[in-house]
Amino acid sequence: MDIPKFVESYFSENYVQKIEDPTFKQKGVSVSILRCDLIHPELSGNKWFKLKYNLLAANQAGCKTLLSFGGAWSNHIHALAASGKLFGFKTIGVIRGEIAELSKSNACLADASANGMLLHAVTRAEYRYKESTEFIEDLHKQFGDFFLIPEGGANLEGIKGCAEILQLFQSEAFDKICLACGTGTTLAGLLTATKSDVLGFQVLKGEHYLQQQVNGLLAHYALSAKADWSILDNYHCGGYAKTTPVLLEFINSFQQQTGIPLEPIYSGKMLYGIYALIQQGFFPEGSRILAIHGGGLQGRRGFS
Ligand SMILES: *Cc1c(COP(=O)(O)O)cnc(C)c1O
Repeated sequence: MDIPKFVESYFSENYVQKIEDPTFKQKGVSVSILRCDLIHPELSGNKWFKLKYNLLAANQAGCKTLLSFGGAWSNHIHALAASGKLFGFKTIGVIRGEIAELSKSNACLADASANGMLLHAVTRAEYRYKESTEFIEDLHKQFGDFFLIPEGGANLEGIKGCAEILQLFQSEAFDKICLACGTGTTLAGLLTATKSDVLGFQVLKGEHYLQQQVNGLLAHYALSAKADWSILDNYHCGGYAKTTPVLLEFINSFQQQTGIPLEPIYSGKMLYGIYALIQQGFFPEGSRILAIHGGGLQGRRGFS
């Protein structure tokens, strides 16, 4: 498979689904969901968009090996391994965590490995220095030439790819585009391209940091936001990968009602937040809301 063919294959589909709920009618809003989880069984969601231009850049540089970083359940690592298999790259995953911890069975890393990824575990202490010149030089000594993609695909190529999520739907048809945010790269990409309001749901604990991070990303690459945007930092349910019984209950009942699977790290928290905000009358009457399902369903296996 080559990259343009893959892109052509998913652009022919419709990924927008309307969600019916009596509360939405009562509050005068409509909610649709963009099913980025359906793009490809392994290479789905925003992770594909963050990889696309990185893979093209690696090709351009004549580099056949991709290296990136992530935790033991990283959607980014999982998608990178799948893209390596699909498009013919060697892949190396530098994984955060003690070796003993990682050798416990982990379905995410098992998939990555089955897709040909070489897994290189480093301690949490070492992982903190993964961006340092010495650390990267050491990796080159061990693994030779590679194209480095930052953790989470958080670079200019990642941002550029995420802007293309907008090509999957008519952005003028929606007043509010909602998404879950980790690094903020996807949000930054959308902001460079849409004029609709964008609302980010932060999945990590901490006030204002993501706002600064997104502003930092935009400034670093001399990009500017075309849309109004804001970030809600009160729907993380205790922090990254933390859940509450109420969140898990919401995800179950949402899946029962709509048939749409969610995971509790990202899209589950966003939709939980959207439902809560609608109840509170946060969105003006007549609002047409689009929620971006960011894929990453493989990560659910870490919770069972
Ligand atoms: C990685 C991920 C996000 C967060 O994307 P960022 O660009 O890092 O903000 C959201 N949803 C899912 C499902 C993800 O895997």
